[in-house]
Amino acid sequence: MIKYSDAYTERIKRLLPSEWEDFLRAAACPPSLRVNTLKMSASHLAELLDAPLAPVPWCKDGYYFPERFAAGKTTLHEAGAYYIQEASAMLPAALLDAQPGELVLDLCAAPGGKSTQLAAAMKGEGLLVCNEVVPSRAAILSRNIERLGVRNALVLNESVPRLEKNFPSAFDKILVDAPCSGEGMFVKSPEAMAEWSQDAPAICASRQKAILGSAANMLKAGGTLVYSTCTFAPEENELQIERFLLDHPDFELVGAKTEIPQPHLADFVPDEIANKCVRLMPHLVKGNGHFCALLRKTDGNDIALPRPRYSVPRAMASVWNDFCETALKTRVDPNAAFGDSLVALPNGCPDLTGLKILRAGLRLGEVVKGRFIPSHSLAAALSPQDAASVLDLPSEGDETRGYLFGATLSGDVRGWTLIAADGCSLGWGKGSDGMIKNHYPKGLRPTRSH
Ligand code: SAM
Repeated sequence: MIKYSDAYTERIKRLLPSEWEDFLRAAACPPSLRVNTLKMSASHLAELLDAPLAPVPWCKDGYYFPERFAAGKTTLHEAGAYYIQEASAMLPAALLDAQPGELVLDLCAAPGGKSTQLAAAMKGEGLLVCNEVVPSRAAILSRNIERLGVRNALVLNESVPRLEKNFPSAFDKILVDAPCSGEGMFVKSPEAMAEWSQDAPAICASRQKAILGSAANMLKAGGTLVYSTCTFAPEENELQIERFLLDHPDFELVGAKTEIPQPHLADFVPDEIANKCVRLMPHLVKGNGHFCALLRKTDGNDIALPRPRYSVPRAMASVWNDFCETALKTRVDPNAAFGDSLVALPNGCPDLTGLKILRAGLRLGEVVKGRFIPSHSLAAALSPQDAASVLDLPSEGDETRGYLFGATLSGDVRGWTLIAADGCSLGWGKGSDGMIKNHYPKGLRPTRSH
């Protein structure tokens, strides 16, 4: 049984007067992953993995797997076939229910579990803005967006107030997965408790209030917003929502319909709010702990985002066309050039001037001395059917592992060739004379201990 601090135990007793003992006895839930349906179907992944998968009830692509299975070390993980994500953390994006073609913002997005889930739901259509304020975390987010083959995302490293200035009433849907006191993680990593203090919920609540207020201003009338935390503190959850609704009469709390069993909370948590929000509690479900509220903006303006005026110089377009004709079966059309790079910006992409951008749509590659060098992002986003030349290897074979470490492959292919692992694209190789030169980025190659 986990040893919680006395101060935390007292808080839980106050919050859950009739079930605190069950709560304190609860163990961490089994690990879980979410299939990246942009790159692989759940049934195909289940056939390939050397581990039984059991469904996560509230997320159709989420599965628990056994502790012994090193899910982070497989080639399929490297190829973006799935994302390792705690089961509870799959609920917020599922509730937001993003659709292809929508304008969606994930405001606190790193490392990208929920962004990549939203991207899979959007199927590459529409615009997904993924923002993270901490630069090092934004870089990890950007890498995950690339690994999972997402084409229609902007990855930004902006403060929330600057974003609010740039995107007034702009989005159909917004996810605010707020920084919080993280109590839901204590069951998994008791070290997280060491950083907790009695003041943490109040400090976090004040930060969350500001973030949520800005998010409200970025939502279109009729748009929906999911606010989520991975903590149990009511100040950061139901009481945060209660105060938000008082301050924002143009919003309503939508009852989230789920079958998830709910706790009996103490009287100081208002029933009319609690009954419409969802809590995932480790003593009631196989999940470490999360809170979600679904809000709708009932009134306000829609403001169309300023459209960019990007174009592709004719000489660069011609180099791209030559590459397309020889290397691709499915055309992708660039609509912007930044320096030597060609990019396919998503439909609905706003003017990017002045924003700190880590990734804008799909970077196709670079024109170097009149030739096209395709980017790793393009390889990650293609499926084998899209490429003219493909070497599809068994995902756990030695050759495939060797490719990730930078080894040259052999094969009778010419020119740019998509290297895939059991149908899931991994990266580029370039073939000539029976050899395939390795173009898997050096920075992504695993270390020997991997
Ligand atoms: N949504 C992410 C996912 O599913 O992978 C997890 C997000 S985590 C709960 C909250 C994020 O908020 C962190 O990445 C953190 O860096 C960021 N954050 C911290 N302070 C912030 C602030 N003042 N404004 C906006 N985001 C902040």
